[in-house]
Amino acid sequence: MSKVVLVVAAHSDDEALGCAGTLAKHVESGDIVHLFFLTDGIGARLGSDEDKNNRVIATEISANALGVESYDFAEFPDNQMDSVPLLDIVKCIESKIKSIEPDIIYTHHGGDLNVDHRLTQQAVLTASRPQPWNKVKEIYAFEVLSSTEWQTLNEPPFLPNVFVDISPFIDKKRESLSAYKEEMRDPPHSRSIENTINLSKYRGNTVGVAYAEAFVLLRYIK
Ligand SMILES: [Zn+2]
Repeated sequence: MSKVVLVVAAHSDDEALGCAGTLAKHVESGDIVHLFFLTDGIGARLGSDEDKNNRVIATEISANALGVESYDFAEFPDNQMDSVPLLDIVKCIESKIKSIEPDIIYTHHGGDLNVDHRLTQQAVLTASRPQPWNKVKEIYAFEVLSSTEWQTLNEPPFLPNVFVDISPFIDKKRESLSAYKEEMRDPPHSRSIENTINLSKYRGNTVGVAYAEAFVLLRYIK
């Protein structure tokens, strides 16, 4: 039976870095995937309307590459989500959960260096707290290069316990990453396409497959 999957991320490109191969795999198996981004990913850099439009176009290209059903943006301030009340973020996500009714949610690791990422996870966990009417059964945290691995021991480290074999979907992940060429950097920067593929290879080889994406299981109701 097909499932409904919701990605709640702070910025468009986080889905490409964190779980593109897994999303392509969901789509291939008949699941319906929705993307929800809490910021426009531009604001803190004083981006122009053209920058914002380019980011939406990149998101569209990535979404099409992965075959997702929809993508949507909230309007919280990029890299300043700590300037708005957490309750506002929670309500915004609750509203999305009510309309999409996801079975599975993918979101950020709560120990990321990026403050938007940390707050996103906190708000997701609050918005999807397991009450009788909440259909969310599985919540996973993904890793985002240039944030997850850049944190120090001030926050909990990313210790994955779920690995998704994305070997047949590595080209889809590369395609999704390529859509965000403005956000990607040249090697040896951590957030290069090459290093993201390297990470997938490392995660895959860790569990004996060619490529994988790794997650921390946050909740699983069976
Ligand atoms: Zn991000």
